Amino acid sequence: MKFDPAAIASQLAAVTDGDIETGKPLAPYTSYKIGGPTAVWIAPASEDGVGRVLRLIHRKEIPLFILGRGSNVLISDKGWDGVTLYLGENLSGSTFSHRKAHVLAGTLLFDLIRAAVEKGLAGIEQLAGIPGGIGGALRMNAGAFGREIESTIHTVSGFRPNGSAFFVIRDKIKFGYRRVPELEDVVITSAVFRFEEADPHKLSTRVDDILSLRAKKQPLGHPSCGSVFKRPSGYYAGALIEEAGLKNERIGGALVSPKHAGFILNVANATAADVYALIRLIEKKVSDRFGVRLEREVRLVGEF
Ligand SMILES: Cc1cc2nc3c(=O)[nH]c(=O)nc-3n(C[C@H](O)[C@H](O)[C@H](O)COP(=O)(O)OP(=O)(O)OC[C@H]3O[C@@H](n4cnc5c(N)ncnc54)[C@H](O)[C@@H]3O)c2cc1C
Repeated sequence: MKFDPAAIASQLAAVTDGDIETGKPLAPYTSYKIGGPTAVWIAPASEDGVGRVLRLIHRKEIPLFILGRGSNVLISDKGWDGVTLYLGENLSGSTFSHRKAHVLAGTLLFDLIRAAVEKGLAGIEQLAGIPGGIGGALRMNAGAFGREIESTIHTVSGFRPNGSAFFVIRDKIKFGYRRVPELEDVVITSAVFRFEEADPHKLSTRVDDILSLRAKKQPLGHPSCGSVFKRPSGYYAGALIEEAGLKNERIGGALVSPKHAGFILNVANATAADVYALIRLIEKKVSDRFGVRLEREVRLVGEF
């Protein structure tokens, strides 16, 4: 570590509001319930506060990790030897105006869906059941059942890593499958969504249908990050993993789900090393057997 966490924490406290800690365990902030501590933790309570934090961290050249709601990350057992900028509860909330909503990055996607549905606003109800926040969903272009978050986006705001302001309108963003090059290197602090009007009752029924479909298809009883791999073109990752004989494969406390082989579950206090070893095993066996190179959807953070 090339910096003094306590000194950085007190400098951060001088430039922004929100929670600041040193040596905070990250596991509770991830859906996997895995991951060691971060040297410094900062959870700003305003968009401007995020900008000030970034300017300081950039000046000091400290490694930065942006954590949303932690549902698509595998954090190393050693943790993160830098600053974790957490955009969660402190930076949450939506303001609706007619068919638009200004939404802060830490807002849970499901909270936004529920609020929109109540107001009879359609567009993202198909995404019901995807855990995580708005920032993470945008960064990943989260989606399900043929619908992705991009379809309702109007504008995205935030900061570049050096703390300069960033703003982009939808037409200038090329959303891809679980990737958005224009948003790879920015810290998203809020977005404006644009919805269609619809009958709230029908929307609510649709959300219930989607949730029960997901519960039928997905193993939701153990911590996971959802699908570990992206869908390779022409295949389904889960089917390839199953056909490679890896359903129920276990390393330490990590298990390839018997219900959906695309999920690696934390069934018994798995370490990041356990999950990573299973990921590597799957990649090798699927490549050897089918010649398909699986691309990871989960983001690895820290040393592996
Ligand atoms: C049970 C389960 C089911 C799932 N099902 C689906 C599904 O159907 N479809 C799907 O697309 N995903 C699915 N996921 C994956 C995950 O929920 C999504 O990718 C989600 O959008 C990630 O959001 P997050 O806030 O948790 O991001 P995090 O996991 O916190 O972060 C993900 C990435 O985004 C970056 N990031 C987070 N916030 C910001 C920000 N504000 N600005 C810039 N970068 C940021 C992080 O640095 C990291 O690289 C599932 C996960 C689980 C656990």
